[in-house]
Amino acid sequence: MTEPSECPACDGRGWLLCNTGNDQSPACEVQRCDACEQYESDLTALEAVVKAAQGQPQLLRFVEEVSQLSHESEEDPFERTREDTIVTLNQVIMDARQLLGIAEKCSECGQTVPLVIGCPDGAEVCQDCFDAGQH
Ligand SMILES: [Zn+2]
Ligand SMILES: [Zn+2]
Repeated sequence: MTEPSECPACDGRGWLLCNTGNDQSPACEVQRCDACEQYESDLTALEAVVKAAQGQPQLLRFVEEVSQLSHESEEDPFERTREDTIVTLNQVIMDARQLLGIAEKCSECGQTVPLVIGCPDGAEVCQDCFDAGQH
């Protein structure tokens, strides 16, 4: 925390929220920042996030949901449909981003969105705008 220069990759947090999935199977997890290596492993990074989340119920809930979702197996007791999972995950990512102050904004429509797509021209737009073929 007293580092003189903040790591640009993680804003000095030492961890990143990574989108590890794809359209068919969305997933995200907390990973350590490999650029500054503040934490020994992804697990210690996650533990640090959990620690930081204490006293912040929303953030704690997010971390729990992330670990649940990313370790979702075939014997999921809730038997959620994939669509449900996608909706939940997007909502969770969005909540967390807003909570952590790392919300992504679509440069086209100005909406805060769970994920933006980087375009070749440098713009970062939401899925809807991307599909609309603006870029
Ligand atoms: Zn870093
Ligand atoms: Zn948009």
